[in-house]
Amino acid sequence: MAAVPASSSSSAALPTSPASGAENFRRSRILSSKLYFDVPRSKVPVIYSSSYNITFLGIEKLHPFDSSKWGRVCEFLIKAGVLRKTQIVEPLEATKDDLLVVHSESYLKSLKSSLKVSIIVEVPPVAIFPNWLVQQKVLHPFRKQVGGSILSAKLALERRWAINVGGGFHHCSAAEGGGFCVYADITLCIQFAFVRLNISRAMIIDLDAHQGNGHEKDFANDDRVYILDMYNAGIYPLDYEARRYIDQKVELVSGTNTEAYLEQLDKALEVAKINFDPELIVYNAGTDILEGDPLGRLKISPEGVAMRDEKVFRFAKERNIPLIMLTSGGYMKSSARVIADSIINLKQKNLIDLTTSPSTN
Ligand SMILES: [Zn+2]
Repeated sequence: MAAVPASSSSSAALPTSPASGAENFRRSRILSSKLYFDVPRSKVPVIYSSSYNITFLGIEKLHPFDSSKWGRVCEFLIKAGVLRKTQIVEPLEATKDDLLVVHSESYLKSLKSSLKVSIIVEVPPVAIFPNWLVQQKVLHPFRKQVGGSILSAKLALERRWAINVGGGFHHCSAAEGGGFCVYADITLCIQFAFVRLNISRAMIIDLDAHQGNGHEKDFANDDRVYILDMYNAGIYPLDYEARRYIDQKVELVSGTNTEAYLEQLDKALEVAKINFDPELIVYNAGTDILEGDPLGRLKISPEGVAMRDEKVFRFAKERNIPLIMLTSGGYMKSSARVIADSIINLKQKNLIDLTTSPSTN
């Protein structure tokens, strides 16, 4: 929380409080950000940059992660002929001022400790590297992905959908990172949308295998945000405080199979439909629900992932609600292929349109 001196003014015309002071700072930072820029019609709302991928002298291999899955998703799509490289939108990197929209100076300063970053990303050897290298090799890719998540909301309002082939750092709150999530991109994305896109109701549909405790804490008492979270209740982060802030909680047990999973999802979407009428959906589409994922411990087939994504896109399209998809967790070697196949399925079902006219701009 930014400390803003309370006003002693008793003027009724200018009510100021620590909260509104902080809110004013936030608004002005959002309004002066360069992360929202106009995207020509020659591009599709698929956002990605080659700098999303993390390569760190090979030590990235120590994490049970395919840390270049983002690039591989795009490669598969290009190889399948559904996307051309020139159609992809390259985002800008979130700057310190952008990050200060939700994070504190002290939190961002704490990332100047390589030890601190190593704990958040759960790769202990990162601790021994000089911070400039950690900034360049780890934090820069994440900040690019954050820029992509933020921009995706603007594109979704214009085109009805957008996919950031990255982002979805749902364990990070304004106050604290964890579980490989350094920056709170979902919170940032929604706060930017509230100020720049003139909307006031957002729904988070978090279907990563893990509970999204970061955004849950950030929107704990914010009626403008409805959170549907479906997760394995027996694994990380076991954040019972944050669970209280979920509007619609669907708790799964380890070993849940595809059929049971999709049935639960159908029911959850039916309830969400009745409970809330959003102007933007942020879909956190982690693929760590896949069978064999050592972290998610669920048993969903690749086809099940595609059906899940299809249900969420259909839910949004039928009600004409702009939707953004973030790829979030799921870093098995097979994840990239599954994500790409799911995007191809969305195209085949006419839920997304990847064609562009050779535009004049
Ligand atoms: Zn996860």
